[in-house]
Amino acid sequence: RISYYNGEYVNHDEMKVKSGDRAFYFGDGVYEVVRIYDGRFFTLDEHADRLMRSAEEVMIKGLEREEIIEILHEIKERNGITDGALYIQVSRGIAPRDHGFPDGSKPVIYASIRSSKRPEQQMESGVRAVTTEDYRWLKCHVKSLNLLANVMEKQHAVENGAKETIMHRDGVVTEGSSTNVFMVKNGILFTHPADNLILNGITRLEVLKLAEENDIPFREEGFTVSDMSEADEVFYTSTTQEITPVINIDGRKVGDGSVGGTTRRLQSFFNKKITELISV
Ligand code: PMP
Repeated sequence: RISYYNGEYVNHDEMKVKSGDRAFYFGDGVYEVVRIYDGRFFTLDEHADRLMRSAEEVMIKGLEREEIIEILHEIKERNGITDGALYIQVSRGIAPRDHGFPDGSKPVIYASIRSSKRPEQQMESGVRAVTTEDYRWLKCHVKSLNLLANVMEKQHAVENGAKETIMHRDGVVTEGSSTNVFMVKNGILFTHPADNLILNGITRLEVLKLAEENDIPFREEGFTVSDMSEADEVFYTSTTQEITPVINIDGRKVGDGSVGGTTRRLQSFFNKKITELISV
């Protein structure tokens, strides 16, 4: 497996990370995960744009969009993987440990690929979720490497026999530990607005586009955990989890406990997008 680190394509298992990499000390960087289906990138431009925006938000300078795109293409080609996910991260640079930004350091890029299949089974049957308070910082719109809170939140799901943790701030549902959360109530789709309290997921945006194109009414509006407990349907989205139905939250059924019709429709529209992508 070939990965990329700090200017070089290297054998993944022999890759040597620089000890002064600020990703290592501080999680001082940003990242993206991009999906490939049948050898084709899905929403590559959107991911590249978001990476540039995240870098800008945290004042990482000197990152070139073309370089990002080129590395992603190279990694895909050199590994010959057709179905999988590419990971790319950009740290602020390499320097002795000191909180303040180092002078003159250049961003350090790391990229790798792994093969993976679509999560067919969970998309079909749905998953269990649990809720907890969202105790992250107030720049959740940045796709930061600093994921300690998300890691802790996710582990809470694992330890409670669930697949995802749905977080809330003062009762208002923000998002999942690595996903965006939607609910359907009386035929209307709800999801948290794209402000500083959530990551504006590329899959989230695709779902809203699909809702728009297919006359499914939607509102980018906060809803509470209590609203969600009375929802007809709940699902979450991400690049790798696509549209995953949630059929049980905190041990209670969502709706009648089966996957709802609006979720199924959106999944089929999403499938169509992928089929179109791989048939050109
Ligand atoms: N929210 C968070 C906190 C995430 O980490 C992710 C995925 N990385 C998402 C939402 C979903 O984003 P996307 O659809 O772009 O993968």
